[in-house]
Amino acid sequence: FQIPFPKNEPVKAYMPGSPEKEALQMELQRQLANPIEIPMIIGGKEVRSEKKEKMICPHDHKKELGEYYIAGEKELLMAVEAAEAAKEEWENMPWEHRATIFLKAADLLTGKYRAKIAASCMLVQSKNAYQSEIDIICELADFLRFNPYYVQEIYKQQPNSTDGVWNRVEYRALDGFVAAITPFNFTSIGGNLSTAPAMVGNTVLWKPSSTAVLSNYYIMQILMEAGLPAGVINFVPSRGVDFGNVVISHPKMAGVHFTGSTNVFNGIWKQVGENLNKYVTYPRLVGETGGKDFIFAHESADVEALACAIVLGAFEYQGQKCSAASRAYIPESLWSKLKGRLEEEIGKIKMGDVCDFTNLMNAVIDQKSFKNSQSYINYAKESKDAEIIMGGGSDDSVGYFIEPTVILAKTPTFKTMVEEIFGPIITIYVYPNDKLDEALKDCDTATPYGLTGAVFAHDRAAIIKIAKALDHAAGNFYINDKPTGAVVGQQPFGGSRGSGTNDKAGSAINLYRWMSQRAIKETL
Ligand code: NAD
Repeated sequence: FQIPFPKNEPVKAYMPGSPEKEALQMELQRQLANPIEIPMIIGGKEVRSEKKEKMICPHDHKKELGEYYIAGEKELLMAVEAAEAAKEEWENMPWEHRATIFLKAADLLTGKYRAKIAASCMLVQSKNAYQSEIDIICELADFLRFNPYYVQEIYKQQPNSTDGVWNRVEYRALDGFVAAITPFNFTSIGGNLSTAPAMVGNTVLWKPSSTAVLSNYYIMQILMEAGLPAGVINFVPSRGVDFGNVVISHPKMAGVHFTGSTNVFNGIWKQVGENLNKYVTYPRLVGETGGKDFIFAHESADVEALACAIVLGAFEYQGQKCSAASRAYIPESLWSKLKGRLEEEIGKIKMGDVCDFTNLMNAVIDQKSFKNSQSYINYAKESKDAEIIMGGGSDDSVGYFIEPTVILAKTPTFKTMVEEIFGPIITIYVYPNDKLDEALKDCDTATPYGLTGAVFAHDRAAIIKIAKALDHAAGNFYINDKPTGAVVGQQPFGGSRGSGTNDKAGSAINLYRWMSQRAIKETL
């Protein structure tokens, strides 16, 4: 049994008249017409509580997709028990058998369930067909195929032995269960955060985001159909604070696999600190958190490429990617030409219902997010230090729509240049050509984050200088490309500073975090 280096799942284009487009459109209509009820999955069984929440379409909030049950203290403790009960058999299962389950899940996802899964992500998270395809189909399948490959390569690594002494290392799972806490914006992250620790023998409690339960639940179903034993991953939609109080503070909690905002991760870290004396083992804390990702242009940059990167980097999926371009530094010699190109391209953007495949943009995730973007737009409208030069409109009468918005800031520390907004808003600061060093310093120090960033330049010396000056400003750094779109197995993803522990999702480094080594010396 040898897993070859996997190939990335090819992206389907959903062209007019294609069978995949037809299947997807039928599935969208089917799910809209058939609201479902989603139970928790604990110990392989469906569990229902007294508390339920509605699921709606963000692009049309009167449309209900169904309801899901919420775990309280009782169900969360049941899930801990189920994870503990499943641990021994799962950990002792030969790793090839564990791997096969995830490889099979990838095939189910990209095969017979492709349309169902893609449609659920489009409807509940308001993604267009392409955004859904690259997330819940391609990236998730890649995680499910690359992680077993990396695990295989890790397990091969053994220390030297000498005459009369046999040294070896056992790669054990952690001593306890792992808590996977996942965000709304990438369904692939939900699937990865729960399965990566499981691949190396851990059992898991998976708390999906309340606005992405539908698509996350379908992933859970696929994992079960692929043969995941009962209790290995327990699917428990729940309120953050309940999950924190019951699960994060539990003595057998051995690791947190988190993706979400910096504030929430900081709260989890504090909670772990407060409970340190309780734990059986020090919990591993792996967090991928917020970003304020930049595009930095040099005067030698190609304006066409730059305009394209700003439009796609800032506005695809309504700017709700942790990697979305949300601030740009442009030399004044390029500004007037770039501004003209941005006006042309942004003017062409169509926004609306996910079932209309010609829409590049859809709705933001919920009312809270809508109001958050609106408040930043209003702040810029009222400030004398900035000007809204494109967009700025919003409408939540049908769905939560925010226009693609460009703010021109007069200072590099203007609020929208510094804070993560997580909406379709980019702020541009135009710097004098002879003030490159100052602009680089601003870019490096303006925010607490360090997730993604891009430099646009043709001058090689400038690329070297900018890359060096922004050394720790981005864990994923792009040269002449937009700062979004990392691919598993090609650009391992993650950032440092306030953006996370940089344990690169979909790489060997991440998988090591879920293992605890035992080094054995045997005298022969
Ligand atoms: P969020 O922080 O609001 O929620 C993330 C998860 O944490 C959800 O499941 C939520 O219910 C849970 N949660 C909330 N409070 C909690 C608590 N007290 N205890 C335990 N869990 C709690 O984030 P979101 O809105 O779902 O996602 C957007 C954020 O995620 C942005 O900041 C974005 O930059 C970040 N993100 C980062 C990456 C990355 O790779 N760095 C990737 C995707 C998203």
